[in-house]
Amino acid sequence: MKYISTRGNAPELAFDEVLLSGLALDGGLYVPEAWPQFSAADIQSFAGLPYQELALRVMKPFIGGCIPDAALAGLIDGAYSNFDTPDIAPLKEIGKNEYLLELFHGPTLAFKDMALQFLGPAFDHVLKQRGAWTTIVVATSGDTGSAAIEACRDRDAIEIFVLHPHGKVSDVQRRQMTTVQSSNVHNIAIKGTFDDCQNLAKAMFNDKPFRDKLRLGALNSINWARIMAQIVYYYWAGAKLGAPETHLSFAVPTGNFGNVFAGYAALRSGLPIDQFVIGSNSNDILTRFFENGVMEAGDVHPTISPSMDIQISSNFERLLFDLVGRDGAIVTDIMNTFSDTGRFSINAKSLEVAQALFYGARFDDDETRQTILDVFEASGELIDPHTAVGIAAARAQRRDQSVPMVALATAHPAKFPDAVFAATGNRPALPGTLAGLMEGQEKYDVLENNLKTVQDHISGNARTRAAA
Ligand SMILES: *Cc1c(COP(=O)(O)O)cnc(C)c1O
Repeated sequence: MKYISTRGNAPELAFDEVLLSGLALDGGLYVPEAWPQFSAADIQSFAGLPYQELALRVMKPFIGGCIPDAALAGLIDGAYSNFDTPDIAPLKEIGKNEYLLELFHGPTLAFKDMALQFLGPAFDHVLKQRGAWTTIVVATSGDTGSAAIEACRDRDAIEIFVLHPHGKVSDVQRRQMTTVQSSNVHNIAIKGTFDDCQNLAKAMFNDKPFRDKLRLGALNSINWARIMAQIVYYYWAGAKLGAPETHLSFAVPTGNFGNVFAGYAALRSGLPIDQFVIGSNSNDILTRFFENGVMEAGDVHPTISPSMDIQISSNFERLLFDLVGRDGAIVTDIMNTFSDTGRFSINAKSLEVAQALFYGARFDDDETRQTILDVFEASGELIDPHTAVGIAAARAQRRDQSVPMVALATAHPAKFPDAVFAATGNRPALPGTLAGLMEGQEKYDVLENNLKTVQDHISGNARTRAAA
């Protein structure tokens, strides 16, 4: 299995290189050269497997022999050993043919753990085999940061710097990052938005001397390995609901387009998916795109679903690549236009292809709270605001009631207790493992939104290591 860049101008890489490098050298994102295929018989055989076994079967063709089977099985077992339920991702029926797939049972209570708990050990494994080390730089809108920190803390071969937008993440989210005292963990609050953090991280990757000096690695959702690990739970839901005989649809609250792209990868590799419904908060750039084929970034509006307060969805480029016939030159043109003007559009034919599969819907904070209340009253489940945006979208855009609709529950309600309390009058309790969170000592630096300032800070604070 080889991986190619969406911009068509970077070396083809094997999985282990893609894992370590994140962004391609031409500024593009890595995608499989061809989608592996699971046959109907393969998918039938997924029924009843434990999550770990299914993960092994689904990831294997994407890894293409880079990690031997036995080692891979060990990494997967380790990855999902810190989850608070043996089912890993429970599926619950909350309405007629309407399901909730709970992806928040990992250590940091958001779906980011589903991939990052695997990526930390996988990085460590590949690095140690080479006697190498890496500096991870991650931008976070709130949940990726803590998930990346939990995946990397105290690992010898990894130094990690996490950029979050100062004052724009919830207290629980910030404390989950800043109370970790491991010496290889560094938190930076940027005076700006999540998009500023993401742009800083991207600029560091595009600065080749800096990238080489610090051996930068990425754990953001631009890293293909994260998408790969997320493909598993789409098959998991399929296995539970009777795929391939049963088709299914998914509703995904969307920010960076990583989670839903993993669903698209499941579709392209064989899972019969009818429809993807994308939930947007007031930052509705993707919903507008699927309505009219125009991608136009606006200002970021803070909402009660802060992990989706994003105007630039990095992973969208991977879908774009397929929409334009996998032509890297066209993607390069489009992305250059976007970075110059903040806007691009696709032609009518590509839009038609996209609209046959993707439906968007946007909800403001009042509508989101109303959905939290509706679900609570109808099913007794407390859901977090991100999950609510996805469910609201599913209900607004569902095409066929006979196809099971699986709404992805992306965060534990206790991660956003104020919003859940405002909606329902119930304050969800933090699970026992996080009980001391609000008392822990915090450690982080506040920096200006300036590339040189941040680079100097990272160079100055990375532990110096002898080159391997
Ligand atoms: C990250 C996140 C999202 C958005 O996921 P993307 O992969 O960026 O689209 C949605 N909900 C929660 C709780 C998140 O942490």
